[in-house]
Amino acid sequence: MMNKESNIDQVFNLQKEEALKLRRSSKVQRIKKLEDLLRWINKHQEDIRKAIHADFKKPYPEIDVSEIFVVTSEIKHAMKHLGDWMTPKKVSTPLTMLGSSSFIHYEPKGVTLIIAPWNYPFNLALGPLVSAIAAGCTAIIKPSEMTPHTSALIRRLVEETFEPQHVAVFEGEIDTAQYLLSKPFDHIFFTGSPAVGKIIMKAAAEHLSSITLELGGKSPAIIDSRANLKDAAEKIVWGKFVNCGQTCIAPDYILVQSDVKSAFLETLVQALKNMYDAKGKGIEASKDYARLVNEKHLKRLQHLLSDASIKGAYTYFGGQIHAAEKYFEPTILTDLTADMEIMQEEIFGPILPVMEYQTLNEAIAYINQNPKPLALYVFSKSSDVIDQVNTSTSSGATVANDCVLHFLQNELPFGGVNNSGMGKAHGHFGFLAFSNEKAVLKQRIGLTATKPLYPPYGITGKKITQL
Ligand code: NAD
Repeated sequence: MMNKESNIDQVFNLQKEEALKLRRSSKVQRIKKLEDLLRWINKHQEDIRKAIHADFKKPYPEIDVSEIFVVTSEIKHAMKHLGDWMTPKKVSTPLTMLGSSSFIHYEPKGVTLIIAPWNYPFNLALGPLVSAIAAGCTAIIKPSEMTPHTSALIRRLVEETFEPQHVAVFEGEIDTAQYLLSKPFDHIFFTGSPAVGKIIMKAAAEHLSSITLELGGKSPAIIDSRANLKDAAEKIVWGKFVNCGQTCIAPDYILVQSDVKSAFLETLVQALKNMYDAKGKGIEASKDYARLVNEKHLKRLQHLLSDASIKGAYTYFGGQIHAAEKYFEPTILTDLTADMEIMQEEIFGPILPVMEYQTLNEAIAYINQNPKPLALYVFSKSSDVIDQVNTSTSSGATVANDCVLHFLQNELPFGGVNNSGMGKAHGHFGFLAFSNEKAVLKQRIGLTATKPLYPPYGITGKKITQL
């Protein structure tokens, strides 16, 4: 670690020096870096697939969409809009400021740290990097130690594409993250759990580094009695069980209106079988279903399942576990109560609790009693129901009649609120996260609106308040 610490010190100092030059970096220089990144990714798609698959058997088509495409589309979006994002924005001049002109100048924050989780190990390390480069920052990436193949690949990508004074990678466990956090970064972009988010925020406070926290939590899905049940079930099965349930915006649990509960459960199981067991050979045989990342998470999920069962939950579907293979069957639970651990902590795995409610107000009240979710899904044909859910709750996103899709919409801010995070990512919002929106006011020599306010004071102050 001593060696690593001095390497970190060295790279940090190099980046600090380089960041001063990058303050004046042009659109062309930043786009060149984005193009280099895009070229490497396009050329090494097979290596990316192999690395992520080696970490948790994530199916190739899922890797293509949720790891590779997400990053390449973020790069292309940034390249297309960078000129507009970088241009200082003129703001209007009030009467009292006549003669002056004002702008917002988007200054790169400087040296930044990106700490990534394991669940989308490529996308969640590289996506923020795109925003950092677009904003003209340097970056040090700390990938997750739980996905070592992907972590090594990210390191290779960065070493083959960038100079260390621009972008560097430090692999390692918590001690590496902790040492990095002791440095006075200009911005820290963290994606991970709310528990570690608090540690990051405390460490950032030491240097008053600004932060973006992309955290997790329990994202509910409401199934109103006027939902199209088949459509809702298919979308939920995909959103929940893609990546073996290890998705920050996966629907964590369902709130279904009681009169459609049994019909919905039947449709849900049918959708599950259609997607993962079309040939009837069992879900474990499907190549389209990923595995849990490690034994620790398998045991955590096993514990959540047994705690719920002991307290009276019913396993409506699934429950099979093959520990040696880190296989956890998609599992649906009913008869849940709020005191079960599964209803308190983020599940982050393929267990889907289905709770029922009578009135929409009851469902909304349940959501509002709990920490603000990262995403909230509502399925209904009624726009009134959708509107009521959206305006009566607080969350990072409301998505009506779909799941997870908002992650791919670069024009929307992505992020949470309070327990699910702070600050926003993606597209323009990611660029802003890595930029200081600096106020620039240019005055004409000899002119100033405040001159009448200079001492000795007269009655002018009183007149100003009337303007
Ligand atoms: P985690 O918080 O355990 O780890 C994330 C990163 O933090 C890793 O790189 C890890 O090495 C580092 N870390 C862990 N403990 C640390 C400590 N004490 N000090 C400093 N650094 C530390 O999260 P995870 O298990 O990798 O990912 C799962 C969590 O991430 C879930 O809560 C999920 O919802 C959330 N998540 C959020 C988003 C989002 O975009 N909002 C995306 C994916 C995952």
